Amino acid sequence: MIKQKSWEAAFDVIKSLEENGYEAVIVGGAVRDSLRGHVANDVDVATNAVPEEVKTVFARTADVGISHGTVLVIHPLSPVEVTTYRTEGTYQDHRRPDKVHFVSSLAEDLKRRDFTINAMAMSGNQEIIDLFGGKEDLQNGVIRAVGEPVERFKEDALRMLRAIRFSAQLGFEIENSTFDAISKQAKDLHFIAKERIKAEFDKIFVSEHPQKAIQNIQQSGLNQFLPGDYSQMELWEDFKADIGSWKGWAFFCLLQPKQDVELLNVFKCSNNEKKRVKDIIDAYQLLISDGWTKRNYFEYEFEVLKTAFEFANYLKKAPANPKSVEEIKQIKANLAIQKKTDLVVTGHDLIRWSSQKSGPWLKETLEKILTEILENRLKNDQQHIKKWFLSEYSRSI
Ligand code: ATP
Ligand code: MG
Repeated sequence: MIKQKSWEAAFDVIKSLEENGYEAVIVGGAVRDSLRGHVANDVDVATNAVPEEVKTVFARTADVGISHGTVLVIHPLSPVEVTTYRTEGTYQDHRRPDKVHFVSSLAEDLKRRDFTINAMAMSGNQEIIDLFGGKEDLQNGVIRAVGEPVERFKEDALRMLRAIRFSAQLGFEIENSTFDAISKQAKDLHFIAKERIKAEFDKIFVSEHPQKAIQNIQQSGLNQFLPGDYSQMELWEDFKADIGSWKGWAFFCLLQPKQDVELLNVFKCSNNEKKRVKDIIDAYQLLISDGWTKRNYFEYEFEVLKTAFEFANYLKKAPANPKSVEEIKQIKANLAIQKKTDLVVTGHDLIRWSSQKSGPWLKETLEKILTEILENRLKNDQQHIKKWFLSEYSRSI
């Protein structure tokens, strides 16, 4: 018995549906992952009960995706998504349709799923229902479309990128006819919203084998219909996005011919991601050209410095210093000040000391003071700063 709350909840939901005369099984990724010995957290249930019927069986439910036939059952152990057996009706514009058709048989529901490894079901007594050889493909490490691959990719072009994403997550090979179908239908990718493409890339970047995805994108020809350059695929070999997908986005931008961050706009990355990535690229370029000043250590977050340093080492561009991540941490910790508000003088002080009106000079001077302190040429002490300011300031006017 799988001892995890989400699984116990799912089995309990199945039991309740069965007691009310319906069929219900666990489907999709949870079945695939449990057969690989990974206990997934997202455990989806499929049933022949329509949403209205599901709602009558359980005391607490929420309509999370009723148009797709999904009801969320609020089970005390864990919420469970329960979806009515369905097909996807007609596909328009090579995207998954918004409207679905409910069907009465599990077999029909499994048939519309993308890959054999994703098209298995598990009954309440943990029997595997495997109509398309998913178990064997899982054992052999193969990603194979259910049915005729060209047709399946014509229906929904995102599936091509999903195949590639699963190859990176599982370290599997894409079966030949499925791979050829990707090459053939690659152009349909332009029908897919960039946000959905980005979501697949986020998963690729944090996967175990991102290189596999980059390689498959390049070799299938999908690269021609995706933003960005994928030709430096060998450089992804040892890449690990151990602290989040933004590290993957940063590395991806770094490998572009112009190291351009513009690409992130095309992929509709968030402002946070853009800022992080831009900082990493800037810090990387500073590091490999002039090395970092104390001011740079102050300016960039530790994670940004660490990542830029790792990239520089990885690409064999790192200068002699710093020597290690530990040294970066030390230098940062030993800076004379850690944040701007630590500065003991303010604009008011400068106005008072100089009897000048506020203006752009104020910000510039405060910045200068900050740099002087960080470079240990000035102490963060009112009297010191005043003395320095009066001599420096009287010289500059
Ligand atoms: P993950 O670990 O990323 O959640 P998953 O297999 O659970 O992997 P989901 O995107 O959550 O993937 O989808 C759940 C299931 O729905 C899949 O296993 C697959 O059976 C089916 N599915 C999802 N997207 C598609 C699609 N575009 N075409 C056909 N079937 C799909
Ligand atoms: Mg899932």
